[in-house]
Amino acid sequence: MPLPISLPACLMDCYKVLYPNLNFSRITFYEGMPAVAGSPKGFTMAPGGPDINIYVREYLPCSKDTFLTIAHELVHAVQIQGMTGGGYIPGSWAPKTYSGTMPKFCCRRRTKS
Ligand SMILES: [Zn+2]
Repeated sequence: MPLPISLPACLMDCYKVLYPNLNFSRITFYEGMPAVAGSPKGFTMAPGGPDINIYVREYLPCSKDTFLTIAHELVHAVQIQGMTGGGYIPGSWAPKTYSGTMPKFCCRRRTKS
C-alpha cells in the first residue's frame, strides 16, 4: 500500500530548480507502488483532476537512485502538465506513452542491474 511522503527541502529545492515551471502543488509523492504498476522503480499517474501522483518503490531520500528516479518521474509530471487538458482529464495521459493497454499510466522505469 503506497504511503504519502514529503520530500526533504534539499530535494524539493533541487527539483524546483530543475523544473521551474512545474506546479508542485499538484504532485503527491508516495513510497510504494500501486498494484497496477507492477514493479518499476518509479511510476507516475494522473488519475484525473489536479492530482499527479508519483510513486517511488524504494524511497531512500539521500540516495542517488531515489534522486534520479524522482527526477525521471517529474519529467512525466512536466509532460502531463503541458499536454492538452493538463492532465485533468482521466486517461488523457495514456495516448502519450501507451496504445490503450495501460490507460492513465506512464512508462515503467527500470534500470539495468
Ligand atoms: Zn518514465
